[in-house]
Amino acid sequence: MLSQLRKGSTRALIKGATRSAVPQCCAAARTAPSALRKLSTSSTRLNLASQTPRSTPLTAGKERGTPLVPAELLQVLEETIKTHGPLPVSRYMTLCLAHPTFGYYTTRKVFGSSGDFITSPEISQIFGELLAIWYVTQWAAQGASPRVRIVELGPGRGTLLSDILRTFKSLPKHSSPPVTSIHLVENSEALREEQKKKLQAGGFGDIPVSWWGSVDEVPPTNDEFTVIVAHEFFDALPIHVFENTSNGWREVMVDIADPKAIIIPGKPRKPLRLVLSPSPTPASTLYTRLSTLAEETTPPTPSPSASSALSFDTTLPPAHSPSPAPRAAASASSSSPQQQSISPTLARFARLPEGSRMEISPASWEVARGMGRLLGGERGGAGLVVDYGDAKAFGRSWRGFRKHQVVDPLSEPGHTDLTANVDFSYLAEAMGDLATSHGPLPQSTFLTSLGLQPRLAGLLRAATPERKKEIESAAKRLIDSTGMGSQYKVMAITPKRTEGAPEEECFPFLKEAAEGAAEGAEEKT
Ligand code: SAH
Repeated sequence: MLSQLRKGSTRALIKGATRSAVPQCCAAARTAPSALRKLSTSSTRLNLASQTPRSTPLTAGKERGTPLVPAELLQVLEETIKTHGPLPVSRYMTLCLAHPTFGYYTTRKVFGSSGDFITSPEISQIFGELLAIWYVTQWAAQGASPRVRIVELGPGRGTLLSDILRTFKSLPKHSSPPVTSIHLVENSEALREEQKKKLQAGGFGDIPVSWWGSVDEVPPTNDEFTVIVAHEFFDALPIHVFENTSNGWREVMVDIADPKAIIIPGKPRKPLRLVLSPSPTPASTLYTRLSTLAEETTPPTPSPSASSALSFDTTLPPAHSPSPAPRAAASASSSSPQQQSISPTLARFARLPEGSRMEISPASWEVARGMGRLLGGERGGAGLVVDYGDAKAFGRSWRGFRKHQVVDPLSEPGHTDLTANVDFSYLAEAMGDLATSHGPLPQSTFLTSLGLQPRLAGLLRAATPERKKEIESAAKRLIDSTGMGSQYKVMAITPKRTEGAPEEECFPFLKEAAEGAAEGAEEKT
């Protein structure tokens, strides 16, 4: 990869690049600053620095007063519970987020000041620009395919997609990935419509676009390089929650708070509650069995220290602490077929003390494998997963988000965003036999390495005095070490290298940076 980057199609990008903060060995590292200088200096679109990202931890906000309960989806939930019994959290999440008539994403404007949360691409255009630059380095390193497709999971308003396309287009022709098709995985009809409009408004209406309901529907290809991105997608996928009790692992379920209460629309009340299933559910049985098997087949890890054991009620240490996710993926790929199908994450399941909770997202496992498969084509590809979370499992991160505040996930179903921290080590394990994962790195490290500061300086030079402050605070927010810069992580995915080929580092996911990030993550728990 590095030798390819030094010649041919990337020459113009590399010419004149600074060497200051990046290792000499990595040509991709030198690509970014030079490419950035070729971008236009149009100013940031919006100043949304005061709005709240969904990474906000559980302790950061409290719901004010008792919410009014909207009746529609609640009635569906209550009828379902009365018919089938309490619902697994995963089923509750699916109904709340994706119900075709009353679902959160299907019915409302969720983004921006009138919505419930704000995301990085909506805060500053620099975010999408820097991701685009990373893809350019990968595309060039893998042979600069003459045909490129972009696959985005959960594109929201289409802002990130549009910024990536705009950045590609603004580069000199031989350094610009020629986008020949777009594939969007989106289950909201309303958002599909917004994405279509955004593409047209950006002048990209001529590129063929297909919408799909799931990543598995996106066709494989040997004809195009695949750029794949999932920004704030995995956190919205359904999770199961399990708790270790004196009787073994039991699933946490959503039940009706008072089955005899009559629903009076508009009357404040707490209609739902979390309960523990008194007996094993199909999911808890399956995961308990898998965890026992996993423990039998996974090499023992050092027992957790007293301090980390105390943190089990909220978070769990990484399976192979402190190795970062890519090494977890590599070990999965060299294991036996039986080990491949059993996650080391689940081995920890078996060892947790009573009272511990564990959040597991089988849906995320499947999506991660789908992403890995899409990078298997002859033309190669590169993927980025950006989300809040870490390279470890979480136990109590499930939360609701409404009007820029963290709220009870059971309140106002269908009107509340539901989200959980992403376990990047689980994603890496899932795709370990299909692709190579790198990281995760904190968002601040990733964006700064790719050239956030020079890009910001460029935008500031061209901005009016009034806009300067807005642009600066938006960009700084993306890398704030106490907020988005550390809470959000970036994991990269590249095609699996062929047997015997030397291991290559993938800028900026250098070994030292990844280890530093893993150690930092450990200190926080
Ligand atoms: N990536 C965008 C939007 C994040 S919100 C941004 O960062 O601004 C999550 C997005 O994923 C929305 O577009 C939502 O409709 C979509 N989504 C959530 N769950 C989905 C699922 N199971 N299948 C397809 N799309 C889903």
